Amino acid sequence: MIIELKNDAKPETVEGIKIFLEEKNLPYRFHHIYQKDVFTVVSETDEEVLNILGKMTGIDEIIQDKSEFPLASKSFKNEPTSFCVKNNIIGGNNINIVAGPCSIESEEQIFGIAEFLSKSGIKFIRGGAYKPRTSPYRFQGLGLDGLKLIRAAADEYGLAVVTEVLDSSLIDQTYPYADILQIGSRNMHNFHFLKLLGRIDKPVMLKRGMSAPIAEWLMAAEYILTEGNEKVILCERGIRSFDNLVRNTMDIAAIPMLKNLSHLPVWADPSHGTGRRELVAPVSMAAVAAGADGLIIEIHPDPAKALSDGAQSLYLDQFTALLSQLKVIAQAINRPIDPQISKQTKNLNLCVE
Ligand code: PEP
Ligand code: MN
Repeated sequence: MIIELKNDAKPETVEGIKIFLEEKNLPYRFHHIYQKDVFTVVSETDEEVLNILGKMTGIDEIIQDKSEFPLASKSFKNEPTSFCVKNNIIGGNNINIVAGPCSIESEEQIFGIAEFLSKSGIKFIRGGAYKPRTSPYRFQGLGLDGLKLIRAAADEYGLAVVTEVLDSSLIDQTYPYADILQIGSRNMHNFHFLKLLGRIDKPVMLKRGMSAPIAEWLMAAEYILTEGNEKVILCERGIRSFDNLVRNTMDIAAIPMLKNLSHLPVWADPSHGTGRRELVAPVSMAAVAAGADGLIIEIHPDPAKALSDGAQSLYLDQFTALLSQLKVIAQAINRPIDPQISKQTKNLNLCVE
């Protein structure tokens, strides 16, 4: 249950609700989220509780059973959520482009890619230091050394870092090196982990579980929001299906579906969504045309030698060619791409963190 307070609710009202919930043994959290004061009550409630709350002053709305993801839904907040990361606007009308290797492999590799990205006008670098590999015998990532490398490369070239936090024991270690914490597909259902991510003050990019229905994915986002972190990005990365010619089936329709249901920014990952290099450019364009607020794309200077996901990594010149195509699509739908890439938005960088 969500108890949404009126803008002018008095401190006595807040205290009164706290005392009442405590008396009733109802666990709650009190947050200021999306400019509203809300109580999130994590328990079943009965009619009596609802009747008493219903009579209290200062309460704007009690949201109960209407939806399983009230804070993520458009009925709670209609305008698209946007926030700043290192001087870049995420969400809103902007389209962000994130690129980089699947795994951070070496100093030479990540610095080379960072330099290439900055010359291309890209503002975000991706790269995994802890890799959730299906086989325990495959490269697992450079760990802390990898985090240090991607941070150093990003700082050298003025980029923001998107990197995966693999589990709850690694939040503290990953946090200082990341600007956006990626939550992998395999962790979308790890609810305790999601709650912990809700208590940090950096944005979280939540990938879709590979077999997760859209509603479950939004409920996973809700786990983060209910703990007070309002900076959540949803990332469609394909779902498992019966076709084994592709690694995953990219659910393009999920993008407009989410945009209808939620105010949260929606990114697309055409690399994992297809698993095949030759499909990445067309699916990237389709995702932007379908309303994606960002793309996260795997690139590698020598994909044949990549330690993970080489088959879906673009060569650097393919990525450059894709950027030109994306500019045309963005223009056609009247949306700005990250400022350095798109001329139309040069003076639109209004981010104040
Ligand atoms: C990744 O981005 O490298 C990754 C492992 O993604 P996912 O969790 O979507 O499989
Ligand atoms: Mn990968």
